[in-house]
Amino acid sequence: MSTAAPSTVPATSHADDARIHDLVGIGIGPFGLGMAALSEPLEDVDAIFLDQAPGFSWHPGMMLDGATIQVPFLADLVTMADPTSRFSFLQFLKETGRLYPFYIRESFYPLRSEYDRYCRWVAEQLDTLRWRRRVRSVQEEGEHLLVVADVLDAEGEIVGTEEHRGRHVVLGVGTRPALPPALAELAEAADQSAPPVIHSSQYLPAREQLLDAGSVTIVGSGQSAAEIYRDLLEDAAARGTRVDWVTRSPRFFPMEYTKLTLEMTSPEYTDLFRSLSEERRESLGREQRTLYKGISGDLIDDIHELLYRLSQGGAEVPTTLLTDTAVTAARHDAEAGEHVLTLEHGELGTRREHRTRAVVGATGYRSSAPALLAPLGGRIRRDSRGRLDVSRDYTIDDQQRIHVLNAEEHTHGVTAPDLGFGAWRASVVLDAITGREPYPIERRIAFQTFGLPADDA
Ligand SMILES: Cc1cc2nc3c(=O)[nH]c(=O)nc-3n(C[C@H](O)[C@H](O)[C@H](O)COP(=O)(O)OP(=O)(O)OC[C@H]3O[C@@H](n4cnc5c(N)ncnc54)[C@H](O)[C@@H]3O)c2cc1C
Repeated sequence: MSTAAPSTVPATSHADDARIHDLVGIGIGPFGLGMAALSEPLEDVDAIFLDQAPGFSWHPGMMLDGATIQVPFLADLVTMADPTSRFSFLQFLKETGRLYPFYIRESFYPLRSEYDRYCRWVAEQLDTLRWRRRVRSVQEEGEHLLVVADVLDAEGEIVGTEEHRGRHVVLGVGTRPALPPALAELAEAADQSAPPVIHSSQYLPAREQLLDAGSVTIVGSGQSAAEIYRDLLEDAAARGTRVDWVTRSPRFFPMEYTKLTLEMTSPEYTDLFRSLSEERRESLGREQRTLYKGISGDLIDDIHELLYRLSQGGAEVPTTLLTDTAVTAARHDAEAGEHVLTLEHGELGTRREHRTRAVVGATGYRSSAPALLAPLGGRIRRDSRGRLDVSRDYTIDDQQRIHVLNAEEHTHGVTAPDLGFGAWRASVVLDAITGREPYPIERRIAFQTFGLPADDA
């Protein structure tokens, strides 16, 4: 239900939203937005959602033409919780006149750009969203929580502060681009004149600069690394620009899509994963990387086909693909105008220097305990590594008032970043907030049993 405070705040002022909301959401990415769309029809939920960004924008640096999302369209913001929701992807297609073309297209997988467009369409209909609000802190204030946000202008400058109060806070602040230490230091040390060292999240704005650099090295093993390699290679070959791809993984491994494996993206498997020791979760998480950190099989084959086509007639394709190879050190050779990466082969243990004029770190994202929680001190549960200790119902405090969305990969496993699981998790959080199950929560979705069944089941 939309009863939030007025959206605009005069410059350099302080706005105090005295109302105590049932929930204050921080972060309006797909998961925060899903929470807002599922809260909207609920009469007993007074909610407000804050985001530092000027509006919804999903991974603009990787909005590659033709790229699709990697989950079926049913994994939209709401359908798995409420198939009748007016915020569904099908409703979006109907209202934008795209339902029949989508039907004829016969693909379960919307374009990435279309998913972004769909989320913007939902955001435009919700009056509980407040953009250009960067949350600075969450603190206790009597029985409820006080959320303090800086109000930003179009340049991102702070022009005011706002206070919002809520019985519950839902953190949907997403994850941060992560570079391995060697590349992070190189990126930090690189001055304006040095050739680019970027994270894949910044790819599209840097594409032309990369192609003009003469040589580019992509570091990483996942979908983003493969998409950038595929997107650059043809134009680069035409311009004589080298594109090298280095990955620590023993091979370019495909994401696994087999149905019984996909059943691991389920409440039951999450129960099992959450029940394991921190140590076991840690190693299992690494073992399960193929489930969602690999490359789609079609893209791997598409890349081979492109290499096959470009090398016709003995043509030399200016590229090297290296597996089982880690970047262990990096430095900038200003005189040569090049970056020098130290490569080490995992099996052979051999090392050599690799010179390149630009680097793309497609090395993933990390969730971290946001600093805005600091004022809550010991109220926030942490594990032995200082990470958020997220309970099965997605709360991080014993009062069960602070909930997280997509900050629980280390406690809940593969479901955390999965768009297909967002609506289920939101339903669990709304159940906790309302004390009733506004959206039916499936406890069992898999045909297989994870763990041993009770005796004589
Ligand atoms: C290129 C790419 C493609 C992906 N494709 C898929 C896919 O096809 N299928 C799939 O299942 N998953 C996919 N993922 C994984 C995952 O679903 C996405 O990363 C998704 O965006 C995560 O959503 P989120 O809401 O957790 O975080 P984000 O999308 O990162 O949103 C977090 C929001 O929080 C805001 N925020 C952060 N801190 C503050 C603060 N202090 N105050 C206010 N606002 C704040 C940010 O501005 C941001 O808008 C993809 C990931 C990437 C990088």
